[in-house]
Amino acid sequence: MEFSSKLLEKAVNEMAQLPGIGKRTALRLVLHLLKQPSEQTQFLSQALTTMREEIKFCSSCHNISDVEVCEICNNPNRNHKIICVVEDVRDVMAIENTNQFKGIYHVLGGKISPIDGVGPSQLNIDSLVEKVKSGEIEELIFALSSTMEGDTTNFYIFKRIKDYSIKTSTIARGIAVGDELEYADEVTLGRSILNRVPFENTLKNI
Ligand SMILES: [Zn+2]
Repeated sequence: MEFSSKLLEKAVNEMAQLPGIGKRTALRLVLHLLKQPSEQTQFLSQALTTMREEIKFCSSCHNISDVEVCEICNNPNRNHKIICVVEDVRDVMAIENTNQFKGIYHVLGGKISPIDGVGPSQLNIDSLVEKVKSGEIEELIFALSSTMEGDTTNFYIFKRIKDYSIKTSTIARGIAVGDELEYADEVTLGRSILNRVPFENTLKNI
């Protein structure tokens, strides 16, 4: 791609670093911004910079939050004895949209994936195990996507907590194998949380 301007080229190259954005799309977006009033670009860059600098992760569940402890963890009307274990923030949003879950979450920040160099220590697993050890949790619901990495992660956590008296379940697989949780429709996802099954039942297949 030949550019008539170094400034344009730099902006396009930066934009093209984003996932799913190729150079052509990046060029289209940058040219769109050039057509808008310059404040528009300022609002965008300011919003991104402020978000990047000020955003926090909940000290309890690791969900993205504007405050130290997120709204969900802070809500006395939620059942703090039931924890839904998810991969990332998008899963919290998807499950919240179903309005079917009144417990709290634990965001792992990814899945165990040796190919991508992600081991258990890079994920928020120790803090989850500590919560289980505290004896205040009655049930863990594994709600990771049913990929090999998701299953590996579930099993790893299960092994670490199985000696504690706690119920473990996994969301019912109305969701096809390999589907990412965030793309499941709300009704299916809501139902799969309500119809969750004991985690041990899924181990027979391994
Ligand atoms: Zn939280």
